[in-house]
Amino acid sequence: MTPTQKRTRTVLISGAGVAGPALAFWLARYGFRPTIVERAPALREGGYAVDFRGEAHLSVLERMGILADVRAAQTHMGAMAYVNDAGREVSRMPADVFSGDLEILRGDLGRILYDATKEQTEYVFGDSITALAEDADGVTASFERAEPRRFDLVVGADGVHSTVRSLAFGPEEAYVRPTGLYSAIFTTPNHLGLDHAGRAYLTPGRLVAVYSARDNTEAKAVFYFAAPGAPSHDRRDVAAQQRMVARAYAGNGWETERLLAAMPSAPDFWFDSISAVRMDSWSRGRVALLGDAAWCPTPLSGMGTGLAIVGAYVLAGELALAGGDHQAAFARYEDALAEYVRGCAKQADGVANWMVPGNRFMAWFVHQNYRLLPYVPWKGRIAASIRRTANAIDLADYGSVLRTRQNRACGSALAPSDNAAAR
Ligand SMILES: Cc1cc2nc3c(=O)[nH]c(=O)nc-3n(C[C@H](O)[C@H](O)[C@H](O)COP(=O)(O)OP(=O)(O)OC[C@H]3O[C@@H](n4cnc5c(N)ncnc54)[C@H](O)[C@@H]3O)c2cc1C
Repeated sequence: MTPTQKRTRTVLISGAGVAGPALAFWLARYGFRPTIVERAPALREGGYAVDFRGEAHLSVLERMGILADVRAAQTHMGAMAYVNDAGREVSRMPADVFSGDLEILRGDLGRILYDATKEQTEYVFGDSITALAEDADGVTASFERAEPRRFDLVVGADGVHSTVRSLAFGPEEAYVRPTGLYSAIFTTPNHLGLDHAGRAYLTPGRLVAVYSARDNTEAKAVFYFAAPGAPSHDRRDVAAQQRMVARAYAGNGWETERLLAAMPSAPDFWFDSISAVRMDSWSRGRVALLGDAAWCPTPLSGMGTGLAIVGAYVLAGELALAGGDHQAAFARYEDALAEYVRGCAKQADGVANWMVPGNRFMAWFVHQNYRLLPYVPWKGRIAASIRRTANAIDLADYGSVLRTRQNRACGSALAPSDNAAAR
């Protein structure tokens, strides 16, 4: 271990979503001591389906040794059929556009990441950072519940509404860009008897969909609706959020009423405005941001989860390579990812108008496009283009670079287990 690395060993990560545990995984491999503080009282189960696209995403999962587990838990989702008021199919979105190359429920992914990190990571559930005071040697973090503690570095992996970002960079209004869409998602009985499939019903400004989950034993109800200029909602007032959904879908046809009736008793109701995060820089002093906290490309891009995994791999790798020089590591992390993140975020451009068309003509136009998709010459190119974007990064093999250095220096900073990371 080099003298400089001794100075950068403890890393506080805010958020046990996807990016946080993935970062902890790699940091522990490289000999750092990660602590994750998560606001939720326990690991968040359930949730919506997320997907990985292309080699870059999959290769990081493979290097982590969890690709087989993610594959074993994948949803095997088929196409999403758009239906009319009577439930008859009018068009369909192909599975590879809708579900990527490997789709998994977010809760299942969270469990896999937790199991892969829990031995080497200190998890603190039910708490949140309230203040960060940085000096030349480290950062003192204060918490809602725990006593203040010192860390060498702090990473905000706490999502779109990141507390770490607010504390280190200022109020979120400067970085969070609402799309004008809102979304609600919850688990509900699979009352339509869907078999690894989804149904969606589109009316101007409103999309409601259901897809089966966990081998058809349950379903996810999904609402995306336009409410441009709506006043910002209270993120902790679930009853008010449910009233907003019910108001937005009043009088909507198909299965909407039944789904709305199931909403209050859902075990895992999730609601938020759909917003992107745009920042010029993801680090300040000893604090860095990662995942949705830094660059949320919105769920409309289908890239957020893969980006979180890739970003964690790069951030940890650069910290290990920099041997404790966090400023150099953060600069290289941003250089390595900025262009890639921009490309992935661009995938969301214009998607809102397709997903939730604003008027009847546009809704009709969307259906016609999906209907014709299997027959047009550019069939398959949409998924291929998304995959190309997801692959547009050359990932360094940090494990072997570090191993080579270790061999040269004979007894350097690497933890012995890092060899596994370089597979
Ligand atoms: C409805 C929806 C559908 C999506 N569909 C897809 C998809 O199909 N494909 C895809 O790739 N991506 C999808 N995404 C995006 C994907 O979920 C995110 O991009 C990804 O989870 C980013 O991971 P993250 O760890 O950065 O943030 P998150 O997963 O949001 O995790 C942040 C964590 O921080 C915790 N937290 C928040 N505040 C604090 C605090 N103050 N202190 C401590 N902890 C805190 C939260 O509880 C959470 O556990 C979707 C997102 C949504 C909302």
